[in-house]
Amino acid sequence: MTSKQKKSRKGKKAPTRTKQVMRWHLDGTFPGNDPNGQPVGEDFRVVAHDVICIVKDLITGTPLSDPREIKIGITSRPVPYIDATTDPKFLLIFLSMTDDDLMVRRDYAKFAFQLGHELGHAVMGPLRTNGLIETLADAFSYEVLDRMNRLWERKYSATRPHWASWASHFTDYQKNEEAERFAGLPASIRNAVGEPDWPQVPDYLKNNLGILEMNLTEEAGLRLRSLGASALRRNKIPWKDLLGISGFTTPSAKDDPGFRSDLQTEVHLLPNAVRNILPRIGR
Ligand SMILES: [Zn+2]
Repeated sequence: MTSKQKKSRKGKKAPTRTKQVMRWHLDGTFPGNDPNGQPVGEDFRVVAHDVICIVKDLITGTPLSDPREIKIGITSRPVPYIDATTDPKFLLIFLSMTDDDLMVRRDYAKFAFQLGHELGHAVMGPLRTNGLIETLADAFSYEVLDRMNRLWERKYSATRPHWASWASHFTDYQKNEEAERFAGLPASIRNAVGEPDWPQVPDYLKNNLGILEMNLTEEAGLRLRSLGASALRRNKIPWKDLLGISGFTTPSAKDDPGFRSDLQTEVHLLPNAVRNILPRIGR
């Protein structure tokens, strides 16, 4: 414990640094209990807490540029999304979870996967997206799943042993998701994925940049995003240098603070640490 974390003279706990990084809550769209009276919302709140701690760790406790509290809810839409323009008070994250996902399957991995991706957008800046930003957001979600696996094995072995033994489902979900998306890739690229060095992968991604941009949320784009995220994660990613990078477009997110998905990232404006990893994805 550092002196800053010790109780102040008034007897109140001094705020810890990470507390200011991301304020958040689950909204009322999460069910309280399942039909057997078992807590649902509270369990998912604990999972969200763990995911958020991991993302905070990735960005080494650096506060987000958008100081709004994050409100996490459920949507009936087929895909999750983040909305930074509707509510002046909250950054809204909507996760695409059915009642079965929440109450029957208790699909904590699907929840962590989606939340990790949307928090990646919150970190990079929620007002812009494009092929590069979606690829990086996918890298966030894959990283979160792997780290959730390791965290749960350790953290809950004594207090919630059923969660500790459930931990490997996080990595299983990541691997299944990747395998599903990779299935649509040409055999030569699928084979290259398993090799120690992926010489064809950056070239393939470079040659398909147009397809990615035109199909950001379609199958043809999803597999390219996933391949890019995996290529990035084969080596270290400077997560904290990704803070705010989505705003580097023309016009910038500062100059035009509406949501835009039609602008490319101005790569020359990115921090060196981020520019240095882009050759892995052919940029
Ligand atoms: Zn996204």
